Amino acid sequence: MSAGLTELRRSVAGAVIAPEDPGYDLVRRCFNALVDRRPAVIVRCRGARDVGTAFDYARTNGLELAVRGGGHNPAGHCVLDGGLVIDLTMMRGVEVDPDARIARSEGGATWLDFDSATQAHGLVTPGGIVGSTGVTGLTLGGGIGHLTAQYGLTCDNFVGAELVTPDGSLVRASEEENADLLWGLRGGGGNFGVVTRGEFRLHPLEKVVGGRMLYRGPGIAGALRAYRDLVAAAPRDMSCQAFVALTESLEPYLVVVPCYTGNGDHAGLHPLRAAPGLVTDGVREHSFVGQQHLFNPAYGADRNYWKSSFVRDLPDELIDDLIGRMQALGRPPGQLLIESLHGAPKDVDGSTAAVGFRDATFNVSVMAAWLDPAHDEEQIAWTRETSAAIEPFSVSGGYVNYMQADEPIERVRAAFGEDSFDGLRELKARYDPDNVLRRNQNVPPRV
Ligand SMILES: Cc1cc2nc3c(=O)[nH]c(=O)nc-3n(C[C@H](O)[C@H](O)[C@H](O)COP(=O)(O)OP(=O)(O)OC[C@H]3O[C@@H](n4cnc5c(N)ncnc54)[C@H](O)[C@@H]3O)c2cc1C
Repeated sequence: MSAGLTELRRSVAGAVIAPEDPGYDLVRRCFNALVDRRPAVIVRCRGARDVGTAFDYARTNGLELAVRGGGHNPAGHCVLDGGLVIDLTMMRGVEVDPDARIARSEGGATWLDFDSATQAHGLVTPGGIVGSTGVTGLTLGGGIGHLTAQYGLTCDNFVGAELVTPDGSLVRASEEENADLLWGLRGGGGNFGVVTRGEFRLHPLEKVVGGRMLYRGPGIAGALRAYRDLVAAAPRDMSCQAFVALTESLEPYLVVVPCYTGNGDHAGLHPLRAAPGLVTDGVREHSFVGQQHLFNPAYGADRNYWKSSFVRDLPDELIDDLIGRMQALGRPPGQLLIESLHGAPKDVDGSTAAVGFRDATFNVSVMAAWLDPAHDEEQIAWTRETSAAIEPFSVSGGYVNYMQADEPIERVRAAFGEDSFDGLRELKARYDPDNVLRRNQNVPPRV
């Protein structure tokens, strides 16, 4: 072990893991099994001071850096070959101030950590739909989930942050202090510093009416149209997502996942119940935490390659084409995910956040998933071709939270729009002028 590494171990409150240490293979693993990288050192931080020490060590030793929250980003930006990982997985505390309706979440907390803490007080913020996804990583890219129509994007509820910038400074961002930085953090990704603590606005909510509705057979195109028409009416009390996938017998099926928070007879759900091909209606009243457990994919099992497009509409011809392309994939478990952006995201003044997709109608994501490396080429080609077929309907460069590492800068730029991208480049020049934090959907500093 080098003298430098021994000194680093002494300097941090957390743990330092090198390739020869037990647990190395476990802590370098990310959600996407397509990504298999071997960092030189992983610093499992315990707080902002450790993050500053890790930045300092990387700079002194000429090491490139990656930042790990929940490890979910499909591009695998949280791990790198030969460099240093600032790992936040030991910083998962979430404190709730029920009177102020604010949660303060450490930089490595997951949605499971967050929802458990906030639901103990009957409070929520609109977050991601999988418990092991990182709260901060998701928020920094926007955040779409089961409560988007009711309360907006996750980043719209992100009201403050404390971050360590690459020069080791501790900076605060809020509506009162460095408000332009808060704007950039609402969508601009991990470009400006490591967020060690984030503050989120909370809303009272315990029960929802939700679950999965499964449609099979030739009627699924009609059911997908019914879903589209339902959300086009912009119900404020129902978020709704849908996905198309393949059964083991290679038949396309549709799942619609409403999350309804209105009162009364659940009339809003009637069009989904009347749609053709409904074989299982799993929608019922349950806890919000129950809704958050509808999807629990295995961590690090599948190889994944995703591409998303924000579209202005889902015309019939696109629906038919997507179902045909799903069938053509010929191998489960890949899927086409359709997330609706109706409701509260449209109420927010767009100038308060850097996200560039607020005005889109749906986020349509092509998500190949497979186990066998022999299928890499075929699955990646299917994703690219299907995504190209969606492109004519697209209104922006895609969702940064679902981007692979091979996306060209033009798509990252288009994801924000020219003006916002320029604003982000200016912030980058101020907080990370040397582009130390470049393993992300990168915003190069303005020169
Ligand atoms: C199974 C699955 C489910 C998902 N569900 C949703 C969903 O419901 N809604 C949605 O909008 N998105 C969803 N996503 C996408 C997800 O939000 C993004 O991939 C996000 O980047 C993941 O954050 P992470 O911390 O888990 O990932 P990581 O790979 O650990 O981090 C990704 C990047 O985010 C940045 N980052 C993370 N934490 C910090 C921090 N504390 N400070 C500074 N930068 C940081 C870094 O640049 C890091 O490289 C999902 C992804 C997966 C794989």
